[in-house]
Amino acid sequence: MKPLDILLLSVAAGLSLYTVYLFTADDAPAAALEPRPEPRNPAFKSIVLHHSATHGGSAAAFERNHRPRLGGLAYHFIIGNGSGTPDGEVETGYRWRDQVPGPHTKNTEINRESVAVCLVGDLQEGPPTRKQVGALLALLERLCRECSIPPEAIRSHREADSETLCPGRGLSMNEIRAALSRRLSAASPRAVQAGIVVSPH
Ligand SMILES: [Zn+2]
Repeated sequence: MKPLDILLLSVAAGLSLYTVYLFTADDAPAAALEPRPEPRNPAFKSIVLHHSATHGGSAAAFERNHRPRLGGLAYHFIIGNGSGTPDGEVETGYRWRDQVPGPHTKNTEINRESVAVCLVGDLQEGPPTRKQVGALLALLERLCRECSIPPEAIRSHREADSETLCPGRGLSMNEIRAALSRRLSAASPRAVQAGIVVSPH
């Protein structure tokens, strides 16, 4: 087989595996968001996804990193990858409990109107875990339903700021938005279970 054929086959196999992986994760159980602050901040009209660009991490670790320069954990939610936090566990940051924006991008207007979700891991080096994707979809579904945010208002950090690679090439935003659209178009809302993350990247 010619080198080019091998390359194309490898790419096709990789894409296929990735698609299967996301579709499988689509049916993962949702996570419970605790607490449920009311009223919601009406300014939250979009969601921005980040990665930590670290091997592992947790809300506590990111809080320590962010506190000196950002005044505290910049993200609203953090989704663990099994290193520092259980795989797929969602940690909720104080900014969600208090319904206040976080300095998770350089654009203050985007920060003011967005909910920040961070996947632990370096997604430039590889995809998130299956449990992370399942937890992410469950969390996004709940945020979309409860904050009336449409799937098209979910962006990667890179889509909001072309100067960053965050959250890395391992996260397919089109797959995430498509999977979320399917969940949101289901007849009845699913029971949601969720868990939440650390250093804006
Ligand atoms: Zn980021």
